[in-house]
Amino acid sequence: MTRRQSERMRQQRVFIQTFGCQMNEYDSAKMLEHLRGQDYVRVDSPREADLVLLNTCAIREKAEHKVYSLLGTLSGLKRARPELVIGVGGCVAQQRGAQILGRVEAVDLVFGPDHLFELPAMLAEVAAGGRVVHTDWRHRTERVANFIPDFGPAVGSAGDVKAGLAITKGCNNFCTFCVVPYTRGREVSREPDNILAEARALAERGVKEITLLGQNVNSYRAGGVNFVALLRRLNDVPGLERLRYTSPHPKDFREELAQAHAELPKLCEHVHLPVQSGSDRILKAMRRNHGIAEYLDKMLMLRERVPDVALSTDIIVGFPGEREEDFQATLDVMRTVRFDQVYAFKYSPRSGTPAADLPDAVPEPVRAERLERLFALHDTIVRERSAALIGTRQQVLIEGPHPRGAAMTGRTRGNKPALLPDSQRRPGELVPVEIVAARKYSLVARDVTRDS
Ligand code: SAM
Ligand code: SF4
Repeated sequence: MTRRQSERMRQQRVFIQTFGCQMNEYDSAKMLEHLRGQDYVRVDSPREADLVLLNTCAIREKAEHKVYSLLGTLSGLKRARPELVIGVGGCVAQQRGAQILGRVEAVDLVFGPDHLFELPAMLAEVAAGGRVVHTDWRHRTERVANFIPDFGPAVGSAGDVKAGLAITKGCNNFCTFCVVPYTRGREVSREPDNILAEARALAERGVKEITLLGQNVNSYRAGGVNFVALLRRLNDVPGLERLRYTSPHPKDFREELAQAHAELPKLCEHVHLPVQSGSDRILKAMRRNHGIAEYLDKMLMLRERVPDVALSTDIIVGFPGEREEDFQATLDVMRTVRFDQVYAFKYSPRSGTPAADLPDAVPEPVRAERLERLFALHDTIVRERSAALIGTRQQVLIEGPHPRGAAMTGRTRGNKPALLPDSQRRPGELVPVEIVAARKYSLVARDVTRDS
């Protein structure tokens, strides 16, 4: 047997399936790195794995259904291979806990987002013959001290150009539609030194762009450092070229942050500020703690300081009690702000949230039809916004080759996907370009370095 074969025999093989948001992607990457340190190797299919982990999302009903459907398939695999270990982590795990063990016999382990760094110990419990549930919250002071332990490895493997970096976890806002405060717990900010250490480690591995992650990033505060002060420190990390963040909350979006976009060279000209609805009545019922005039004023303040800023948002259509005039108010906001990107969803009732008990549910066909109208309007806006970029100079961070054809792909600082045909550029390079054409979802760019 070769050395490689015997190493492979010793190593356990793990497959992770991630559902949901960038925070879940980040948590999965952390779990993988942590398991790698315990001699696990990653595989690309559950069929090859000794351990299958699902990192789940509970934000909408559909996301939860997907989890149970995959668990159905995995149950078949486990019948054929009873030694296969199946673990369910993330938001569905936190919300449903032991119910998952009752519902799916094949599951060995259920663990909430507070426990991802305890995987080796939890797996040892499973190996000792248990079916294990860990969904208790860790003690608050322990979490406040640092919710990602010092040994928490930096994620983003060699060759990655972009990486996420968690700065807060949980949420205190309790918007009436949202399950996050129940699945991720109260908001906790990570210590600035720990964040900076991870940012430096990422930059040393060649990561050029970091997106700061949290449910309400702009309420960050730890060790006397607020969100803007943290951005200023990150702006000084050598080797790092671009900074982004998601998601800020409109109620906490202040002038100081808009000013930082104008001043900090690495902070990109892109802000994703979820609006959810254009109607004051609905915003109140959602408990968003701001009105639409305040939102629009803040967008204006930002555009005054950063005229070419790209704006994106999240919208929910068909929240209980939403009338046609409320929906029209949302369309009006879209016409006023002219977002570059919109993530819009049909309202999905989540058990345990206040909105799930509200009267006046909007019928599904109406929700679907409103969503279609919203996307139709957005299509027109985005075409016009992209067309307006033709002839402008931009900077593209090269991410990799296009899957088809001889082109490299990347993104502008405004977060627009860009294509550089016949380019010899390498991933990680920052290329000055001129936009020569606009397609529906991407820009076509020409490298201008050789012009001067
Ligand atoms: N913290 C962010 C904020 O305050 O906007 C959003 C985080 S949430 C994970 C992402 C998006 O999912 C929300 O902005 C909202 O548009 C959508 N969402 C959350 N709960 C939902 C629900 N019950 N039905 C439909 N969409 C929902
Ligand atoms: Fe959910 Fe509202 Fe918190 Fe965003 S701010 S995570 S929508 S409760």
